[in-house]
Amino acid sequence: MPPAIGKESDMRDAYGRDFSYLRLSVTDVCNFSCSYCLPDGFVKKPGPGFLSLDEIRRLATAFAALGMWKIRITGGEPSLRRDFLKIIQVLKSVNGVKTLATTTNGYKLEQKAQIWRDAGLDAINISIDSLDASTFHQLTGHDRLAEVMNGVEACLAAGYKSVKVNAVLLKGVNDQDLDLFLDFIKSRPISVRFIELMRTGDNAEYFKRYHLAASKISDQLQALGWVQKSREAGAGPAQEYVHGEFTGRIGLIAPYSKDFCTSCNRLRVSARGNLHLCLFSENGISMRHLLQCDSQIPALQAFVRQSLGYKKVSHFLHEGFSGSTQKLADIGG
Ligand code: SAM
Ligand code: SF4
Repeated sequence: MPPAIGKESDMRDAYGRDFSYLRLSVTDVCNFSCSYCLPDGFVKKPGPGFLSLDEIRRLATAFAALGMWKIRITGGEPSLRRDFLKIIQVLKSVNGVKTLATTTNGYKLEQKAQIWRDAGLDAINISIDSLDASTFHQLTGHDRLAEVMNGVEACLAAGYKSVKVNAVLLKGVNDQDLDLFLDFIKSRPISVRFIELMRTGDNAEYFKRYHLAASKISDQLQALGWVQKSREAGAGPAQEYVHGEFTGRIGLIAPYSKDFCTSCNRLRVSARGNLHLCLFSENGISMRHLLQCDSQIPALQAFVRQSLGYKKVSHFLHEGFSGSTQKLADIGG
């Protein structure tokens, strides 16, 4: 029998934060080698395989019944899973999942955008750190900007509820490109999100060289007449900017800013079934033993609620702490 649908307060932590958003990694594998994430490309590690379709279905059923109504499929590159279409269909069919999203590097997106939309995917974030083809090539190891941009157009044509572009802010690399991004969203209903580079276990030197505070972009936006929207209740930590002459929006994600964690609304599960209470928590908590049959769903829910009690008030990144996360591809950014 399916578990009863829970209320939002079922997932409230000790600091009064409600958790409605699950970021679920389905693979660590990636075909790109972004310089801040997998500069040497993906290297296979020993260990158990990635979550199966049945494990994914049980996991989503348990979390959705606790009130987690938004799920983002991430990775690695999630679309490299051969059963990616099935994952979309299974997650979308879970009772209580209202918004199903993914984050992708845009590989083969032009061919897949409509198929994924038809299968039930509501929202898509595409990572494009530069709109300059040679910088994009340098950053990702792939000369595919034109292809990825065709994929973005295909998403707009496919009728997604939300199309966003993620760009990691990199000092001296793409911080001069604001004009290009603004031109791009002048008449397209796209939100470009600049994400501050985060320090992980593997990128300390890179971080020192390239990290740039998002306030550099907000200063430029304000000078150009962009206005920060007030945050809606339950919205995540992005600051959103709008401008009357632009169809699109700009979002800033500034994890090093004061109070970033007070609006945290998300939990993460790795591709091997570990619960991460924070992107930078010390260790994932294994839940795989509770994903083996449908009758374990109530036990899994109790386990998740109990684990939430250990969620800390902040990530302590500003104190140089980056937990056990070596790179974001390991648990899904
Ligand atoms: N492969 C997919 C992609 O790139 O969109 C999904 C996984 S990727 C880990 C998710 C997001 O995390 C991407 O937007 C990526 O740019 C971002 N990311 C990866 N490493 C990061 C870091 N150290 N700091 C900030 N963002 C990072
Ligand atoms: Fe792959 Fe995404 Fe990491 Fe780039 S950011 S290497 S596309 S997982």
